[in-house]
Amino acid sequence: MNIEDLHNLQNDPYNYALRLKKEGGKKVVGYFCSYTPEELIFAAGATPFRIFGTRSTINLADAHLQSYCCSPVRIALEEALSGKTTVLDGIVFPHTCDSIQRLSDIWRLNVPLPFHIDVVLPVKLNSESAREYMIDVLHKFMKELEKNLEVKITEEALRHAIALYNKIRESIKTISDMRLINPSLLKGSDFYSIVKSSMIMDRNDLAQILSHIIQDLGAKKETPDVTFRKRLVLTGAMCNHPDFYQIVEDGGGVVVWDDLCTGSRYFEGQLDSTGDPVISIAERYLHRIECPAKHSGLSTRAENLLDIVQNKNADGVVFLIHKFCDPHSFDYPYLKKHLDNERIPNTLIEMEDQASIGERLKTRFEAFLEMI
Ligand code: SF4
Ligand code: SF4
Repeated sequence: MNIEDLHNLQNDPYNYALRLKKEGGKKVVGYFCSYTPEELIFAAGATPFRIFGTRSTINLADAHLQSYCCSPVRIALEEALSGKTTVLDGIVFPHTCDSIQRLSDIWRLNVPLPFHIDVVLPVKLNSESAREYMIDVLHKFMKELEKNLEVKITEEALRHAIALYNKIRESIKTISDMRLINPSLLKGSDFYSIVKSSMIMDRNDLAQILSHIIQDLGAKKETPDVTFRKRLVLTGAMCNHPDFYQIVEDGGGVVVWDDLCTGSRYFEGQLDSTGDPVISIAERYLHRIECPAKHSGLSTRAENLLDIVQNKNADGVVFLIHKFCDPHSFDYPYLKKHLDNERIPNTLIEMEDQASIGERLKTRFEAFLEMI
């Protein structure tokens, strides 16, 4: 598989899941949100498969969801109701934003799959009771997986999962670092495809592909790109628009870091491979920079964003927010205030997954790039 294959995988992930099952004899378990402990699904012998909507037209979902619901949720339901998710052996919903929680209720009633698990994680993450509760929830989830997938999750399987996930996350981080040194090595949209595919693919195959990509990038003889580029940080829920990265690069910019589910939120943070595996998984969630659907302090997200801007020597911040995404929309004014106080240029791009970025937003974004 090469990077082009990874791009294609984004366009038709369910076809890939079908092949995994038919050719690899794998069980495939769908999930939403980066708060799903996918290491446990992997340790249960199944492939965790993050549900990202493709560019569907929304018809069927409108009978169940109000139109002021975010597009990732509406598209996911549309694809499920149109039969695309029948390939899945089960589905997992973590307790995160309201939209995902309500989608879980609707899905349970309308999308028959062999099993449906809600993982009710704590919202507040910075207390001892939250830690204990998180560990209990993970143990409960493990038992539910064992029952539904008819397997025993052994300590050995858990340790193998942790080692593999550490390797995968480390490899993605290495690729990201290589790009930072020389952006011409890999386009932003290619890196985006690598991260997104990492949440869908067979993880053993993925680990190998990532090693090959690192080798290939290391072997490239191109001299470092010294073109002056505006260095940008992206923040929001997720980006389902690979063309956005092209717009950034065409406009003379480069994405130097992100705070997105389709980026660092997935690959940041190693798991402790020496201690209790379930506690290690809990600790990563407790210490990772939270998304605004969770809470670990009044200003942790703002402080983190300011740190990123400083550490990555960024020229500006782009808020990529889905229309009707409550957690990120409520977070935006306070984050913006912190950036404005530090005179860090920032702009807001509001997007919907089923629509292309559009000329109006493109022009506005280009104006922002010129301004900084
Ligand atoms: S932004 Fe937060 S709630 Fe939304 S999918 Fe990502 S981790 Fe989950
Ligand atoms: S876009 Fe926002 S509201 Fe929608 S699923 Fe993601 S975090 Fe939740």
